[in-house]
Amino acid sequence: MGADLRSFLEQVRQRWPEDWQVVKKEVDPRYEITGLVVRCEKEKRRPVLLFEKVKGTPFPVITNVHSRARLALAMRSTPREMVQDFLRAMENPIPPRVVPAGPAKEVVQTGTQVNLLELPQIAHHAEDAGPYVTAAISFAADPETGVTNCAYNRLMFKGRDTTTIHLTPGKHLWEFYTKAEKAGKPLPVALVIGAHPAWALGALTIGPIVEDERGVMGALLGEPLEMVRCETSDLLVPAAAELVLEGEIPPGVRMDEGPFGEFTGYALGLRQRQIVKVKAIARRRDMMFQDITVGHLDHMVLSTVPIEANLFRAVRAMVPSVTAVRVPAPFTVFVSIEQKALGQGMNAALAVLGTDIYMKQVVVVDHDVDIFDDGRVLWAMGTRVQPNRDICIINQARGTDLDPSVAVDGVTSKIAIDATAKPSLKEFTPRHSVAAEVLARMNPQDWLA
Ligand code: MN
Repeated sequence: MGADLRSFLEQVRQRWPEDWQVVKKEVDPRYEITGLVVRCEKEKRRPVLLFEKVKGTPFPVITNVHSRARLALAMRSTPREMVQDFLRAMENPIPPRVVPAGPAKEVVQTGTQVNLLELPQIAHHAEDAGPYVTAAISFAADPETGVTNCAYNRLMFKGRDTTTIHLTPGKHLWEFYTKAEKAGKPLPVALVIGAHPAWALGALTIGPIVEDERGVMGALLGEPLEMVRCETSDLLVPAAAELVLEGEIPPGVRMDEGPFGEFTGYALGLRQRQIVKVKAIARRRDMMFQDITVGHLDHMVLSTVPIEANLFRAVRAMVPSVTAVRVPAPFTVFVSIEQKALGQGMNAALAVLGTDIYMKQVVVVDHDVDIFDDGRVLWAMGTRVQPNRDICIINQARGTDLDPSVAVDGVTSKIAIDATAKPSLKEFTPRHSVAAEVLARMNPQDWLA
């Protein structure tokens, strides 16, 4: 059996025992799980949390699985090298392998046995419309081409066999659904909960619609992802998942969804969104229900690594001498390049804005600026930018419906700031410096009490 959430947690326990915390006291899934994660975060503690006793459900809850170091471990990399290693995995996918059986099928419930309300009903933030599933990875196939897509989609509980599902307009699952709905057909979907972090990272791969996220998962793991066939459709799901909800997104049906506290830091408003009719539940006998603490580090570190890798790839296609890409805040990108010709700064910015619909503001700096230090980026903006020359605003582009600042859902303007020195770093006013030889001589230990 390949790597799964349990084998990963065992690795964490071995390597960083202090990162593993079991909560024995009964917890209320309404707000208390998120509450403890947020309190820990304020104290700069980032443990994986297993809640053994959760009110109203027989299932334990696991949350806060992701940190930058733990994600690096899961993809056999280091925090410094993981963006490059993620890109390598995208470029060298390992296709999945179908196996006849797996622990995800230990218990299979269909028809009237399906009852989503037995699952932990986790409410996260005070403004949320109700309990949500935040760790569901969707597996679906293009109704025309059969190409598979994986994605994270938030689910709001709506009854024993019903949830809503948030499909971002313009993204791949929405594209599949739009084709199915136009043909008057439901779109089969499998929702996988309880995932090895390499599956989670792979699911968040951003690329062309034909790129199969399962191949990236395999490349991150270093072995093919083992998959089993669903009970009620031809979809394949990881054989070692904790829980699988099998169902379909029916055409023409919408229900109230939201508000829900998102990665943006806002509780986003109520909309009419698609639903999932769940036809079967497959799970492990002793299933752990995974939660992702949305809008906090558990969520943010997970989603930014694949975004940064994809943006790095896109910028590199335009400006081969790109040195780093970072997503420091929602909809925001910093890029550093070793500029070889005038205009490459703006080209790098345009590559970012043309690659990821979520990205709304981009700042490009020279390679002498450390983009992992926000203050240095502001310094470059302050000292190397002439706004009338170096800022470009793009109007009426597709963005995300999760941006609270737009006038029309999902339609946004975008800003590109070329904060590179012009005409070149070499010809620009020199930075002040202290000679290395002097610095070496002036060691405070030799001069101060
Ligand atoms: Mn895709």
